[in-house]
Amino acid sequence: MSAILVQPERIVMPRGLVPRQPARTGRQDKVRVARTLMSAKSDHQQSASSRDARGPKGAAERKASPSLAKAQKKAATSAKGYNPVAPERVAEILKRLNQLYPDVTCALTHASAWELLVATILSAQSTDVNVNRVTPELFRKYPTVQAFAAITPEQLEPDVRSTGFFRNKSKSVVGAAKKIVAEFGGQVPDDIDKLLTLPGVARKTANVVLGTGFKKAEGVVVDTHVHRISRRLELTKEDDPQKIERDLMKIIPRDRWILFSHQIIWHGRKLCIARKPKCAECALENICHAADKTWSTVEIHKGAKA
Ligand code: SF4
Repeated sequence: MSAILVQPERIVMPRGLVPRQPARTGRQDKVRVARTLMSAKSDHQQSASSRDARGPKGAAERKASPSLAKAQKKAATSAKGYNPVAPERVAEILKRLNQLYPDVTCALTHASAWELLVATILSAQSTDVNVNRVTPELFRKYPTVQAFAAITPEQLEPDVRSTGFFRNKSKSVVGAAKKIVAEFGGQVPDDIDKLLTLPGVARKTANVVLGTGFKKAEGVVVDTHVHRISRRLELTKEDDPQKIERDLMKIIPRDRWILFSHQIIWHGRKLCIARKPKCAECALENICHAADKTWSTVEIHKGAKA
């Protein structure tokens, strides 16, 4: 019986790509710069020694070596001249997000600004899927803001228990309903200052309600996905959501604030996930220098991480 030899399948990488697993330490920083300089220096030394052998004119030629000067200039530009929030880079990120997620919107099921407000309060420390499981029955049981205002937080608790932190959330929802009925004529206000007076409503919730419920761009929603991905993409160095929002508002055109948040939230769910981002599948890969990438064709910036 003759044995059949099966050749192992060869992985052929596209030209120009240098994939690698970046270490979490981010020590690869400037690795490409260093290599560029080293190879230019060794080229330069080789050609200098052959020129020196030809006579004293060689030293002057070496001084003016274009390859070393070019590499040094490239290294200096790469190390110092890189601006992660340059308008062209931000525009490129927005363009690619548009191609990836052209028509995305809020994933919380709702039929009114009030329902969106309730769903957003319930979504804290929970998933949209989890909230969407609870809200249809909740809104059947309490169909209006007045119905929520007429109950106690304790009555609401069993209905929202599965979303977690149900005592605080019940207090916030019932408290917000009572205030909206008492002070805003039963209508969710479309004003950020008024929204921020409601119990359980901070800037993130207010921006969701204004952006998705009223189509008003008053700020950028900074949830856990926007927080993580903005840092990975070096759009901010901040860790505090309010400061991140302030940074994003400076570099993203106002007419993109609402869509940008939705797109980044979808990107965070599908690819740029917290623990193991799917960098090999990501359309932003070659302009992303995040230190916690799982695959990279570009240099890593150790400060760029979630
Ligand atoms: S390349 Fe990786 S870390 Fe960067 S945005 Fe894409 S998935 Fe996130």
